Amino acid sequence: MIKRLSLISASVALGCIATVAPVLTSVYIANEDAERREQEDLQQFAAKAVMRTELVTYQAFAAIADMEAAPGSLCSPAQIARYARVSFNYRYVQDGGAYGGGRYLCSPLLGDVRTQQLTLPAPDWQTKDGYLVWFRHNNPLSAERQDIQIGRNGHYVSIDPQSYVDLIDPARRPIAVVNVETNTVLALSPGANGDDMLNAWKLTGRVNNEQWHYAVARSTSRPLGVIVKSPRSSLVGQWPGLLVMWLSIGVVVGGLLGWIAFRRISRQLSFPATLEWAIARKRLDVVFQPIVRLASGECVGVEALVRWNLNGRYVSPEIFVAVAEQNGLIQQLTDLVLDKTLDELSKLLRSRPSFYVSINVSSEDLRTRRFLNVLTARLQETGIRPAQVRIEATERSFMDADATRQTIAAFRDAGHPVYIDDFGTGYSSLSYLQTFTIDVLKIDKSFIDTIAQDAASSVVAPHIIEMAHELRVEIVAEGVERDVQVEYLVQRGVQYGQGWLFAKAMRVNELVLWLNESNTTLQPIHQQA
Ligand code: C2E
Ligand code: MG
Ligand code: MG
Repeated sequence: MIKRLSLISASVALGCIATVAPVLTSVYIANEDAERREQEDLQQFAAKAVMRTELVTYQAFAAIADMEAAPGSLCSPAQIARYARVSFNYRYVQDGGAYGGGRYLCSPLLGDVRTQQLTLPAPDWQTKDGYLVWFRHNNPLSAERQDIQIGRNGHYVSIDPQSYVDLIDPARRPIAVVNVETNTVLALSPGANGDDMLNAWKLTGRVNNEQWHYAVARSTSRPLGVIVKSPRSSLVGQWPGLLVMWLSIGVVVGGLLGWIAFRRISRQLSFPATLEWAIARKRLDVVFQPIVRLASGECVGVEALVRWNLNGRYVSPEIFVAVAEQNGLIQQLTDLVLDKTLDELSKLLRSRPSFYVSINVSSEDLRTRRFLNVLTARLQETGIRPAQVRIEATERSFMDADATRQTIAAFRDAGHPVYIDDFGTGYSSLSYLQTFTIDVLKIDKSFIDTIAQDAASSVVAPHIIEMAHELRVEIVAEGVERDVQVEYLVQRGVQYGQGWLFAKAMRVNELVLWLNESNTTLQPIHQQA
């Protein structure tokens, strides 16, 4: 039993693992792969963004160089016109002009403002090569927009910070540009948060975030850095959900496999073990089929027939009795049938001293007197007469002739009539049977079936009947299903019959009801002690 349970749980566990493991492994691998590709893609995007920042910066430098080469006197119309052309030529430069003494002097958009005292604050930072930089600075042209201003030797250019970050990107991944020496955010694309991006820069992109990937890149020529991020489309965030889903599927599949294993084990692998367990736990039942006197229809006794319901399925006794015989379980089975029969029928047997029950035994039960001893002990002080418990043995169980002959004689001596069951189906001849003394012969159903039919085998039934009369043994016809069979049998002096025409095998309470209904002339059983 323990072995069976552990086999079943092993099947369930294996089923779970077999279902979940490959799925989770492939999900894990696919996820890792997706992660890696997303990270690579983002890294490439960061490199592209760095190129843009370099391009914008170089345009600013080139524009300043062009302005420095402008001819004419400071802020002359020719020089302002020249500034205008320079601004136009460099697409990232929005305006550019001259400054000095902490003031704007002139530019194409400002005009000549030398008399207007337009203050230019001190620069935020100076590069090693002498450029001054104003980070996100308010240009006098607009109170709303900030620009980045780069200047050198009295010339400046004004650049829209967006120029650094407006890359064509259908995914609209957030971008930030920082000055890596001051850790200042120079430009942010829509959707980018300055603190978040700066933090990512400081961590060189290794941010522990379930929703976003980060990547950073640094310019090799200028002190500029770029941070980009993209949402994790991968499955990482969904791990718990995925696990729960696949574990549930795994449990269902595992349970199913376990159930199949359980069925297989129960049915085939350890069928004898299951039977042994069922016998030990008394999980087998006994039903009773009436045997009637054919002439009167009166029920004279019953045959005890064993039943086994295994997990809701009825197992034929033809199968499990044979398994019990092959696996040394038959004696336990016979004892169990006797126990249950006496437990259920003792009241009935005591109340009707002529009523009997016949018990099927196997060759093993006939080899020794063990079962006879069990039976004798069991009947003591029950008030049940030995003749009320009869023994049915098939022809096949008569094979071990010497031992069987003695045991049969012992049963008969002890007062238990002995029946030969399924007569005609075995190999022994009638003359061989003459060497046994038995009381009743049960003609097998297969011969009774042929009665009143034209089948060639229908000659066998009358022959057996005749021989039985000669041997002076009583006859029970098995498997009587039709009235015409009764008629035929009665005519030939067959005393008893058993079959569905009279009743099928029943549980004891049904039997008591049936007996009370069919034998109304007799005293009702439930009124008797
Ligand atoms: P059996 O001892 O010859 O029992 C008679 C079988 O014929 C029973 O089948 C019974 O239900 C069936 N039967 C009776 N009347 C009719 C009928 O009119 N029509 C049809 N079609 N069948 C009928 P069951 O119960 O399936 O038993 C089969 C065999 O299993 C028995 O044949 C007997 O050899 C064996 N068996 C049953 N119970 C026990 C037991 O407690 N111990 C042993 N050792 N063998 C048993
Ligand atoms: Mg029988
Ligand atoms: Mg039989």
